[in-house]
Amino acid sequence: MAAKVSSDKLPQIVTDLPGPNARKVVESDHQYISLSYTRSYPLVAKSGRGAIVEDVDGNRFLDFSAGIAVCSTGHCHPDVVGAIQKQAESLIHMSGTDFYYPQMPQLAKKLESLMPDGKSWRCFFGNSGAEAIEAAMKLARYFTGRWQFIACHSSFHGRTMGALSLTSSKPVQRKGFGPLVPGVTHIPYGNATYLEDVVFKTTVNPNEVAAIIVEPIQGEGGYIVPPPDFLPGLERIARKHGILLVVDEVQSGMGRSGKMFAFEHFHFHPDIVAIAKGIASGMPLGVMMAHSEIMTWPPGAHASTFGGNPVCLAAALETIRLLEDGYVANSAKIGDFLQEKLKRLMERQPAITDVRGRGLMIGVQLKSHELRDSVIDECFRRGLLVLGAGASTIRLSPPLIIDEEQADFAVEILSNAIEAVA
Ligand code: PLP
Repeated sequence: MAAKVSSDKLPQIVTDLPGPNARKVVESDHQYISLSYTRSYPLVAKSGRGAIVEDVDGNRFLDFSAGIAVCSTGHCHPDVVGAIQKQAESLIHMSGTDFYYPQMPQLAKKLESLMPDGKSWRCFFGNSGAEAIEAAMKLARYFTGRWQFIACHSSFHGRTMGALSLTSSKPVQRKGFGPLVPGVTHIPYGNATYLEDVVFKTTVNPNEVAAIIVEPIQGEGGYIVPPPDFLPGLERIARKHGILLVVDEVQSGMGRSGKMFAFEHFHFHPDIVAIAKGIASGMPLGVMMAHSEIMTWPPGAHASTFGGNPVCLAAALETIRLLEDGYVANSAKIGDFLQEKLKRLMERQPAITDVRGRGLMIGVQLKSHELRDSVIDECFRRGLLVLGAGASTIRLSPPLIIDEEQADFAVEILSNAIEAVA
């Protein structure tokens, strides 16, 4: 058990896990809910505040998963809740597909101002990361008149048919769903020369490639930071052949990596950016941004009834204000602090084989898949919520608001959990 604490920003376990109320929910869930979900452990959430989630039995957990890297400003940040409430009182839905409302251009203008290249951008709004990627694929095909795509091994871009055709993270995600969208070729993540030296010399004509779609730091694939020459290498090849560059910032964006967008860690200039997860602190919003000269498709070419719902946009505007106000900087600062602590833990704990990441997107790789899964379960029992990524990595993706005390506590729980099961 972790040390007993009373602070409301630290965890406290008061029942067996799952507790009696949680057990009932899990039982009912098992009867009615799709079997495709992958719950690592029986957390039954009731409420959340900051980096703490309370379950239906009164247990408090320190959340280093943030709802799969979504709750960037923490759970139920009062300013975000206020923005949602205010917007919900005046207009919940109108559909930007057929009508105008001010929050759409307001958020698009704000997002353009966050792009480091100072160019003119346009936004398409959807409801999820997969929809942002789907829109990027369609726009890339439309604009270039080409049909093929390059993606990376171990990548994750979503589960709709187009996005799934790019995804190459785990076989189970594709098994039974073929044939997928044709024209996708995968290359090893981190190896740009493979594209020119192998793919373009053997299988794919570069003049038929619409876009290269890449995560600047791989998420589901294991929190993998590519070598510094990878993204610039892709850019050089793309420019040579008139191929568009789509960067998938769904998981790595909105301050998670310690910069607003993870591609800013590299010399890289995307044409299209996909954003979701952390942009609206938990409200469903996906954005596909493209340079204005690329977003040339005509009215009717693409749209979404719910995409860019005013309540989600209000949450996004407030989230970005908070991120710019200090949480992106905090992600960089606490991320360095946390990674330093984890590297020191690795020196004395041989079960850890790697610690890597940027900002608060940190992967802790363990010796084996089985050990990783046992450690995740043990962390849960000790009050720390973490998820896996890749074959044997634990991902740490807490809200960007955490402080040193919470980072220290998480490392202590992780350390104890590894010792207990390794
Ligand atoms: N792209 C990346 C990099 C992701 O990590 C994810 C989800 O984990 C997606 C796309 C898909 O997002 P969503 O689950 O919102 O459709």
